[in-house]
Amino acid sequence: MNNRVAIIGGGAAGFFAAISCKMHAPNARVVLYEKSVKLLAKVKVSGGGRCNVTNGCQGISTFAAHYPRGEKHLKKAFSQFNASDTIEWFESRGVQLKEEADGRVFPVTDDSQTIVDCLLNEARKLRIDIQLSAALQAIQKEGNAFKLRFKEGTEQFDRVIVATGGSPKPEGFGWLESLGHQVEPPVPSLFTFNMPGQSITQLMGVSVPAAVVKIQGTRLME
Ligand SMILES: Cc1cc2nc3c(=O)[nH]c(=O)nc-3n(C[C@H](O)[C@H](O)[C@H](O)COP(=O)(O)OP(=O)(O)OC[C@H]3O[C@@H](n4cnc5c(N)ncnc54)[C@H](O)[C@@H]3O)c2cc1C
Repeated sequence: MNNRVAIIGGGAAGFFAAISCKMHAPNARVVLYEKSVKLLAKVKVSGGGRCNVTNGCQGISTFAAHYPRGEKHLKKAFSQFNASDTIEWFESRGVQLKEEADGRVFPVTDDSQTIVDCLLNEARKLRIDIQLSAALQAIQKEGNAFKLRFKEGTEQFDRVIVATGGSPKPEGFGWLESLGHQVEPPVPSLFTFNMPGQSITQLMGVSVPAAVVKIQGTRLME
């Protein structure tokens, strides 16, 4: 691998990609760019604040079947790195995990901060350069290299890993399309409600296999 790698996005995917890069190519200069001032913010709120790390389900096909929009694609990915690899990855870095009766796997601390800390410590140990408030504005291919434009100026890298998560609007991926990539229209999946002081927040983290949800006073039902 050529030795300058840029990772765009400081979420779970960006951190895992950066750590994996450094493990496979220790001499690479890996720089992770995050547009906000917060790293791993979504991991922090995941699983009702407990972070459902993975599932105890071991079979690749059974596991992939739980992802209705990505089953086929994920089967290939899971054949490289699956649920048991995830468990081993965290446990070998000192994170104790537990499997609940329904198969969901959480840190024994029941606190997503344990997972955030593990990823941050690993990145620190591997000397990954983390840049905050650094929003990528455009990528341009120049020969075998990539020119990345930020507000403060441009940087050149041999490899770029884009891990910017979802985008509420397809236009948010325009800079990727301009590189020749075809982008699937994004669809909403999991999202948060901001309802401080409401008693419903006590239900946070509860999940059931089959449910009907209705919003009172509206016709909204799912
Ligand atoms: C309420 C909730 C609960 C969840 N619970 C779980 C759970 O328990 N278990 C589980 O496995 N999953 C859970 N998920 C899903 C999981 O959190 C996400 O799938 C995962 O965090 C996505 O990680 P990501 O790195 O792909 O994207 P993100 O976490 O969205 O990270 C992308 C990062 O890229 C940055 N970025 C975007 N554009 C740019 C740019 N141009 N330049 C620089 N940086 C940029 C963003 O600021 C962000 O920090 C949950 C999600 C939600 C919302």
